[in-house]
Amino acid sequence: MIEFIRRRLGVKLFLSYLAVIMIGVLILGVATEFTVPTAFNRHLGMMDQMMGNGGMTMGAGPGGGAGPGYGQGNGYGSELYQNFRASFGEALVLAALAAMAVALVVSLIFSGSVVAPVRAMMTASRRIAEGHYDERVQGGRSDELGQLAHSFNQMAGQLEQVEARRRQLIGDITHELRTPLTAIKGSMEGLMDGVLPASLETYQQVHQEADRLSRLVDDLQELSRVEAGAYEMDLRPADISVLVGTVVKRLGYQFDEKRVGLRASLSPDLPRVLADNDRIIQVLTNLVGNALHYTPAGGEVTIRAERQGGEVHVTVEDTGIGIPPEHLPHIFTRFYRVDKSRSRHAGGGSGIGLTVARHLVEAHGGRIWAESEGRGRGSAFTFTLPVAG
Ligand code: ADP
Repeated sequence: MIEFIRRRLGVKLFLSYLAVIMIGVLILGVATEFTVPTAFNRHLGMMDQMMGNGGMTMGAGPGGGAGPGYGQGNGYGSELYQNFRASFGEALVLAALAAMAVALVVSLIFSGSVVAPVRAMMTASRRIAEGHYDERVQGGRSDELGQLAHSFNQMAGQLEQVEARRRQLIGDITHELRTPLTAIKGSMEGLMDGVLPASLETYQQVHQEADRLSRLVDDLQELSRVEAGAYEMDLRPADISVLVGTVVKRLGYQFDEKRVGLRASLSPDLPRVLADNDRIIQVLTNLVGNALHYTPAGGEVTIRAERQGGEVHVTVEDTGIGIPPEHLPHIFTRFYRVDKSRSRHAGGGSGIGLTVARHLVEAHGGRIWAESEGRGRGSAFTFTLPVAG
């Protein structure tokens, strides 16, 4: 029985209404015990005076000892009082019964309107747990239940997106792994069948593909670490010109080798930024490395930095192959490459670098974006960092 009550919202609601009604009736009963005799006697006194009796001829035997009473023991007054009390008591019982009936109906209606959407949410959450991520509940109400249904649907929508991203990720990784694996397998089979010569070139091809696989695994590891936020951020005031200097020194040799110019053009009054040095060096290395990769010999890469309000804007600009406008919104999406085949054969990456860079910049509270006038007209990548203090 207790378990039944505990599990039914309607019963609980009815019982709470019942408790309120009982307490109301009790208070009314007790209050009337005290107030009615006095009021009754006052009323009779007035009637006495009006009838010219001079008072104290009739009187109520005061219930509960209330009030002194007019002419105690007078039969007529006492009888009138008893009748009055009896009818008052009956009215009270009738009112209590009517209130209980109303409470029953109201609790049934109200609990129905509360229980139905809660049950719908229970069923929907079970279906979602079984993997039906497209399950939604009906909204439309403006009360707390409506807001709950809205939040529930939002949660279901996000779960659906996570699931879609997970599927997409598995598909992408499978695709990325298949290409070098197929190439390695093909070369090995060619070698075994004697179709391919056992030359240095063949071994170099196999090695290149194995290398690609190993870089992909490293990139994926880094991506999963960054996406899960599984890294420490050591934010402290940093001098952006020192960080740029480090990257220029590190990549200078590769620029010289490819005969691409690299220069830094930083505002003289740059404030210090709040940054994790290693992470920002990682972002800069990625952007400058890309700029080098996508800029043909004879081109130029410039790193600029300037203050804009409470931020420092750092831009890596190149005179390279550029990015067509329709690709610009997607290049920070993982595995996205403007020209997949060219990127692959030209030794390009797996399309993860910019995704990692975006995560790292956003972890600093900054933004990152790309601009390009189109194919062959160079690109500029800008990220922002908050000024320290
Ligand atoms: P990847 O490792 O393939 O370079 P990224 O995430 O770093 O991956 O870049 C994604 C894609 O954006 C690249 O494949 C390339 O098509 C394009 N891209 C990035 N930087 C540049 C650039 N400086 N110039 C032209 N295209 C670029």
